[in-house]
Amino acid sequence: MNPSNQYDILIVGAGLAGATLACALKPSGLNIAVLDRNPLPQPPQGDYELRVSSLNRGSERILRQINAWQHIDDTRAYEYKKVEVCQENSTSTLTFNCADVGEPYMGRMIENANVVQALIRQAGTNRNNSIINGITITDLSLNEDYATLFTNQGEMHARLLVGADGPRSIIRKMAGFDEVQGFYGQQCIVGTIHFDGDHRQTAWQKFLSTGPLGILPLAPGYCSLAWSCENEFAIERLNESQAQFKESLEFALGGHLGQIIDAPERISYPLSHMHPQRYVTHRLALIGDAAHTIHPLAGLGANLGITDAAVLAKVITEKITLNQADPGQYDLLRGYERWRKPLNQVYLSTMSALNMLFSEKLSAFSQLRSAGLRLADKITPAKRLLMRRAMGLDADMPSLQHRDESP
Ligand SMILES: Cc1cc2nc3c(=O)[nH]c(=O)nc-3n(C[C@H](O)[C@H](O)[C@H](O)COP(=O)(O)OP(=O)(O)OC[C@H]3O[C@@H](n4cnc5c(N)ncnc54)[C@H](O)[C@@H]3O)c2cc1C
Repeated sequence: MNPSNQYDILIVGAGLAGATLACALKPSGLNIAVLDRNPLPQPPQGDYELRVSSLNRGSERILRQINAWQHIDDTRAYEYKKVEVCQENSTSTLTFNCADVGEPYMGRMIENANVVQALIRQAGTNRNNSIINGITITDLSLNEDYATLFTNQGEMHARLLVGADGPRSIIRKMAGFDEVQGFYGQQCIVGTIHFDGDHRQTAWQKFLSTGPLGILPLAPGYCSLAWSCENEFAIERLNESQAQFKESLEFALGGHLGQIIDAPERISYPLSHMHPQRYVTHRLALIGDAAHTIHPLAGLGANLGITDAAVLAKVITEKITLNQADPGQYDLLRGYERWRKPLNQVYLSTMSALNMLFSEKLSAFSQLRSAGLRLADKITPAKRLLMRRAMGLDADMPSLQHRDESP
């Protein structure tokens, strides 16, 4: 083997999950290469990027703890304080307010590129990290002692190969992991809305019979749209002129944001769910969307991926410190899988069930949902528990998320 192509860990995918892992592994002192097929994102400027995520408090704590937050342009990381959930033809609303759990805000709306560029910048400050772009992976092999990647830039070897290469992970496929996958028959239309009303720093989710419509505050007068709708309905909206789309959106919003000033440029993502039978095998682990793809209705995918990365880094770093210095051993990787897979499964199942329940068009279901929203709004302890979980502040989290370790 050529020593210049040997690493302790190869991470395929320099997205939110992969780049978080590279930063979080710094204390391990391991020699890491992060590989991506695309060029690195630049800090966003001017108009908002179309890919925006709601980062919860737990993810923010992780990013602060691994020193990546300092590189984020926080003039473009907008705090939201409330979440309101309602459904069409009903006055019932379920409200989550950060004040109810004694927190100053629930999370931040932030462009994915803003987070990724910050993570990559931080990862680059560690001389044990190499960041390699323009990679095409042609094959992989796993043996007892190391993993080998075959790429357009030659063979690379490592004791652990991590697939952080998103929902259509080539690493997952090449490793032959069985997966449970399904399509929602929906697409999510995203775009930035400029309007003349007041969003009150509130994320708003309205369940329409065609699917959930999410409005995420980006700045005064600006929101990100995440409109999940049935395929046929989505294609109609995508084919509309700017003026027609503005009208359709205003109708769906029912006056929620006041008048829309600019109809947003829009793109759409087909929505699917996927969970492999396992996350790990000897010498290989999956994290982020490569390990689980979830409906975006509660804005959780990126947060789950960042937590996966923090957990995997913790499990590896603990063992390395104990001088059990092989990060690719199955037993070690199983610790990560045992921690994350059941929790992620709960979120995946809950989002699929919610999407199904709220897409059901029968009027009996509509009345049931209204009653459910009213009731859920009143059960304060359950609401608080749910909020802490969604904010990434619950107990079963890696130490990187704990309050006392955050700046
Ligand atoms: C419409 C929409 C709205 C969403 N909103 C939210 C939200 O509000 N909150 C939230 O938490 N989540 C949200 N999500 C989910 C979130 O965007 C994803 O969970 C998150 O981006 C996954 O991060 P990742 O790093 O695992 O994968 P990705 O972001 O997909 O990154 C994968 C990386 O791997 C690279 N790569 C892929 N294939 C290869 C290859 N063959 N070789 C080399 N490199 C490769 C890619 O270039 C990329 O850099 C949303 C998703 C959608 C579709």
